[in-house]
Amino acid sequence: MSAPLDVLVLGGGPAGAAAALAAARRGARTVLVEKAELPRYKTCGGGLVGAARDQLLSAGIDLPAVTRGTAEAVTVTWGGRLPVTRHAPGPLVPLVLRAELDEALVGAAARAGADVRTGVAVRSVDLDGTVVLRSGETLRARTVVGADGSASRAAAVVGVRCDQVDLGLEAEFAVDDARAATWAGRLALDWGPVPGSYGWVFPKGDLLSVGVIGPRAAGDAVRAYYRAYREQVGLGSAVPVTDSGHLTRVRSLSSPLARGRVLVAGDAAGLLEPWTREGISYALRSGRLAGEWAAQGRPDGYVVAVTSQLEPEIAAGRRLMAAFTRHPGLLQAAFGGVPGAFGLFGRVLDGRATMAGQLDRPAVRALRQLRNLVATSRAIRAVCDGGDVAGMSGHDAARCTPADAAAPHR
Ligand SMILES: Cc1cc2nc3c(=O)[nH]c(=O)nc-3n(C[C@H](O)[C@H](O)[C@H](O)COP(=O)(O)OP(=O)(O)OC[C@H]3O[C@@H](n4cnc5c(N)ncnc54)[C@H](O)[C@@H]3O)c2cc1C
Repeated sequence: MSAPLDVLVLGGGPAGAAAALAAARRGARTVLVEKAELPRYKTCGGGLVGAARDQLLSAGIDLPAVTRGTAEAVTVTWGGRLPVTRHAPGPLVPLVLRAELDEALVGAAARAGADVRTGVAVRSVDLDGTVVLRSGETLRARTVVGADGSASRAAAVVGVRCDQVDLGLEAEFAVDDARAATWAGRLALDWGPVPGSYGWVFPKGDLLSVGVIGPRAAGDAVRAYYRAYREQVGLGSAVPVTDSGHLTRVRSLSSPLARGRVLVAGDAAGLLEPWTREGISYALRSGRLAGEWAAQGRPDGYVVAVTSQLEPEIAAGRRLMAAFTRHPGLLQAAFGGVPGAFGLFGRVLDGRATMAGQLDRPAVRALRQLRNLVATSRAIRAVCDGGDVAGMSGHDAARCTPADAAAPHR
């Protein structure tokens, strides 16, 4: 039997590529297995926030080479109405095609020394570091990094739990010069009719990415919103180049990140910003941490690093998501009328500010204390009146299982 690998990475998305790159850079004998042949399509808006750009630069990716479009202006609507357009002083968000970005990242991992095997699917994962491939071949590693996406096999073994599951639907349309010029440099966001949902148009040169995301539990309503939104942006009857759906999952706060010799990163771990469902930066950051700690055979170090570096941002996103779900109109009003709101949005997007930092500002803390005071007095009143306050908390918990993700998207 051959000696075990130092690090075996499952999945060649941003999390897996970042993990393999980091492990190989540290001299670990690293293999990455990816079930698809690259380049492969991935359902994704391809919008890169500042934290993602920073990771890509340190990974040595030539960002301009994979950027298909940038946005300096944002048009926001609420249910397709009340359009407000705001302009930033410079580019806000680079927009990429995931097929191109992911291929570049996996290429960087291979150049760093990782052995990349594409067209190789994982069948089963064991906590002792044994991985059986669909071909029947068995690989063994001191540490396995599960970066196999939101339907992860590794996550099922580690026992990842998620308390927010969303359905994302996205189509890419080839557009003529006139329509491409209308959208050049401007993206659109729409606060949708399903609580917690929103839609987007991302311009990528001669392609437009149009999509919506919302709670999987309201799947039919999210699909109806998708159809309506495509109509609203004038693409109702256009035939898309690609049209697909994918689930996203946000981890429960107490959910494990590692067990035995297996640790999970990116979507497999449910590491996703709950409000925007931005996941590329989380995949890149958690993937890099996973590779660094896996190279040392220290899953415990990985857990501490993710908990301290990424969990606070996810917690802030949860709070914003709760507010957005209840009051989407507030967001529209803020964009339209509150001085500084768009500037703050831009700073959070490009990484100069964080949502957690904003929610920790003294004025916001004072507002929260006031709200807690009101909620507490309501709860006391309910108890005194003999009412039931049990419904004040509680999550719609879900395990992230492959079978769950195999459910039809449409
Ligand atoms: C509609 C939609 C729009 C989105 N838009 C954005 C956006 O604009 N910006 C943003 O930051 N995030 C966005 N996201 C989230 C983002 O796409 C994910 O968070 C990100 O792709 C996570 O990267 P990952 O590497 O963890 O997983 P993935 O990118 O899913 O990669 C997992 C890889 O594992 C491989 N794999 C799976 N199973 C196996 C197996 N059994 N054996 C071997 N390989 C396997 C897959 O083929 C895949 O290549 C969006 C998501 C959706 C659904």
